[in-house]
Amino acid sequence: MKHLLDQLGTGLPEFLRNAGLPEYRARQVRRWLFAGRATDFATMTDLPAALRESLATEFSIWTTEVVAHRQANDETEKLLLQLADGNRIECVLIREGDRRTCCISTQVGCAMGCVFCASGLEGVVRNLTTGEILEQLLRLQQLLPADERLTHIVVMGMGEPLANLDRLLPALAWATSPEGLGISGRRVTISTVGLPAALRRLAAEKHPYHLAVSLHAPNDALRSQLVPVNKSAGLSDVVAAADEYFAANGRRLTFEYVLLGDVNDRPEHARQLVALLRERTAMVNVIPYNPVAGLPYRTPSDEAVERFVGLVRGGGIEVQVRVRKGDQIDAACGQLRRSLATTAPVALS
Ligand code: SF4
Repeated sequence: MKHLLDQLGTGLPEFLRNAGLPEYRARQVRRWLFAGRATDFATMTDLPAALRESLATEFSIWTTEVVAHRQANDETEKLLLQLADGNRIECVLIREGDRRTCCISTQVGCAMGCVFCASGLEGVVRNLTTGEILEQLLRLQQLLPADERLTHIVVMGMGEPLANLDRLLPALAWATSPEGLGISGRRVTISTVGLPAALRRLAAEKHPYHLAVSLHAPNDALRSQLVPVNKSAGLSDVVAAADEYFAANGRRLTFEYVLLGDVNDRPEHARQLVALLRERTAMVNVIPYNPVAGLPYRTPSDEAVERFVGLVRGGGIEVQVRVRKGDQIDAACGQLRRSLATTAPVALS
């Protein structure tokens, strides 16, 4: 069976055309999926019964199973999903005031190899399909009561989004379409280590999305240790490509900096970061590290965080410390997947 969420743009309309049915039936199906939160074809009650049956023999709406569903005290919820091939991915729903933000994955594993990250420990297995990316959004939407909707997307889960742009961009197009989830493109953040060629493609295509570039170090020597892909790109090209994205869409850039105790949190690192980003319309997000079992990195002291932030701010760069949501549920990317590597699937609660 075909995954319906992979067939929304061409496969579904073609199926209907071949059956001699009008185009508006495709719109009806999409409305049921995105606005109606339908979980099977039988509930799409304004479609003829025969069509519902033939859709059910041709397409499956869901290809994942929920292996684990965790909820933290701050209401952050995390799903561990098992894909049809047995691989597992994570996605997270974060509640902050009126915001309902979903954090989604784009790959199984990750090839970037950031030394402090659980997702990259075993390398990349494969890219997710457009349907698998969309399915995370729909699964998370189902966790919300009927009068609440998803408002923001952060593409910050497992994987490097810019390494899977060909599948991510169509998923985001449905997420932001009025015929899809209707989330404003300006409320979508793509988080990347910064692959310059892909950044330049995004800039050329003039997407409205907000970009968060993960630096994690202010010089090439340290960054190449922490983010090994840096050896092939280099900080100056990453920052130059990010500048091109800013020039193309005018969205203020965010630079992410995971602060690792006694590794990249020293005063000279803060000063180098200021020198690197000076005179840019940019915000630095400092993220105190969330320890991962089996990895030697640790959370920086409060004093180290304060000192680092003070020096960056004093250098004229806007900076904030990002509050970690969902600490008790292994919310950092890849942690739940690793801690539940062999758990059997369970029904979605
Ligand atoms: S931090 Fe992001 S880019 Fe780096 S290995 Fe983990 S998932 Fe990949």
